[in-house]
Order: sequence, then structure tokens, then C-alpha cells
Amino acid sequence: MELIPGYKYIGFSVVTERRELISGEAVIRTDIPKLNQEKAMYRRNRRNKLWYRQPRFMNRGNKKEGWFAPSIDHKLQTHMRLIGKLKRILPISDVIIEVASFDTQKMQNPEMSGIEYQQGELQGYEIREYLLEKFHRKCVYCGKTGVPLEIEHLTPRSRDGPDTVNNLAISCHNCNQKKNNLTAEEFGHPEVRKMALITMRDAAFMNTVRWKLTQLTGSEHTLGFITKKNRIAMGLDKTHVNDAFVIAGGTDQIRTLPFTITQRRRNNRSIQTNRKGFRPSIRRKRYAFQPGDMILHDHERFSVVGVHNYGKSIVIKGREKKMDINTKKVKLVKYGKGLRFTAQFLSPMKKVGILGS
Ligand SMILES: [Zn+2]
Repeated sequence: MELIPGYKYIGFSVVTERRELISGEAVIRTDIPKLNQEKAMYRRNRRNKLWYRQPRFMNRGNKKEGWFAPSIDHKLQTHMRLIGKLKRILPISDVIIEVASFDTQKMQNPEMSGIEYQQGELQGYEIREYLLEKFHRKCVYCGKTGVPLEIEHLTPRSRDGPDTVNNLAISCHNCNQKKNNLTAEEFGHPEVRKMALITMRDAAFMNTVRWKLTQLTGSEHTLGFITKKNRIAMGLDKTHVNDAFVIAGGTDQIRTLPFTITQRRRNNRSIQTNRKGFRPSIRRKRYAFQPGDMILHDHERFSVVGVHNYGKSIVIKGREKKMDINTKKVKLVKYGKGLRFTAQFLSPMKKVGILGS
């Protein structure tokens, strides 16, 4: 099985020799910074209400080595939770994680990459992926996307421009032709040179997170450019699930319908202890059913979409209809917390009418 740590989606696929057992796409939450801001706002408010507060300073020094910002940490946790969940339901032997689309460290050594650009197809492929990512998959001169992009030398080879990555960019065929044997500056784009000199610090940072993930889960790793090459060779579309299938060593196995996985918070916000060390008074009791829970009514499954009357009545929604019902008439199937799996149904096939003569 494996997993592609992406920015917003995690693709996964569990594969045996004969068939794919489960696959899907998990959506990573992106609201963490916003929620932390809200939490800080409430805290500030609470503290402003105190008559006296002990002076505090220098109490922000807890960013030890290996500390990640909450938004990044959440990504890490989501991956680990998902791997844990899959391991609990299936006897998984190996986990393979795509840690990055290319090896950033290797790329940032210009001498090394300069040599490798000339060598073999695989290395050339990796450089191309690196450049595509660095320049956001668009022509650096005209900004066109969705057209075939070529590797472009800022100082042309004919004028002794080197093959190192900081002399390379990507452009569409037209711009490449028009620029011909001019430098980027002469072509009227000095900013491109500056862009080329910037190292991909963000990408490198995400990579450390991904490496940490392989460490924590004890899994093997692979790189994105290898996945892409294999996926194209197999003629599969670019989806997170297909990529995961390829990474897992999928070839001609029977595929499954993928799941979509979303996450639901267990509480609306985390609350600090008050100044006397007690938790602030909050409603501790959970209503028997809350939105997001799955229930059974009349041998049919529904999801809860609303609660009223102090939790005694709920609004439930089935395939199409909504109903208001007393909680005594339903049975809990599953609480809607943590990772939630939803099957992706294929849209029902339309009947095709054929007019014969
Ligand atoms: Zn162009």
C-alpha cells in the first residue's frame, strides 16, 4: 500500500497481486491557521477580563528541533491516522510513500545536476519535473499553461550558457523559438533570471516533513518523477488514486471504486484551563446524536444533519428525503468523527436511445 503526501489531497491504494482492495482520496483540512487565530482571539478576550494577571514573558520558547507549525503538523497527523486506520482493517505488509516529486538536495547541488542533465533519460526527467514545479507549470515568458513546455537555457548554450539548474527555465515552443540566441535579459525578461536563482525552500521544507513521515511510519519511499513515468507508461489518467495505485506496484489488478475521505473535528475548539487550573464551564454532555453521525432507521441508513429540542429530536437525511424524527426511533451506527469514508458512486448510466430506420 502507499500514499502520496500531497498538499491538499492524499491518494492511497492498497494492492495485492490479484486486485486492488481499497483506494481513495483524503482531503486535508486547510482551516488550521484560521482556527488558531480564532482560539487566540478568545484567549486574549478572556485574559483581558482578568483584574490582575501575573507578568509573563519569554514563555514562547518551546519551538524545539523537529517542531512543525500547526498546519504542517496537521498534515503529518492526517497521514499517520490514515495509515493507522488502513493497517487496522487490512493486513498490510509494506507501506510505500511518495516523499517528493524529485530529490531536492540533489537538485540544489548545481554541479551535480549540471552533469546529470546530460546523462540518461531518468535524470533528464527529474530535472524537467523540478523545473515544472519551480515555475508552476507555465511558460516563464508568456505565462501560457496547458501547452507543451520545453527546457530553456537563460543564457543560450551557443553562448556558453551552462546546463546547471540556475540557468534553466521552462517555456513554450513559440517563446523558445522567438528568444533564439538571446539571453533572458536581452529578451526583456530579467525577472526570470532572478526566479531561476531562487532555491525551492518551501519544497525542501515539505520534503523534510515527508521524510519524517517515512521515519515515523517505518515505510519505504519513492519519488514522484518515477511514479509519473510509470503511470504514463500504463496509460492511466493523472489522479491521486491512480498515482497511488502505480506506487503500490499496481499493474493489471482489478480496480475498486475509490472512497473520498473527509475529516470532522471532535470538538468545536480546544479550551485551555482557567487561572485556577480548572477547565472553563462548557457543555460536557454530548447529545446522543449530532450532525455527521450515521444512524439506522427502519433498516435504512441515514446521516444526521441537525439537532433540536435539547438533543431529543434530530433531522436525518437519506438518499434524497429529509426527515424530522425522535431519537428514540433510531439506532446509532457510527459517530461522525475523525476520518470519514464516503463511497464515490458512479453517476447512473444514461439510457441511450438509438433511432433505427
Ligand atoms: Zn511562451
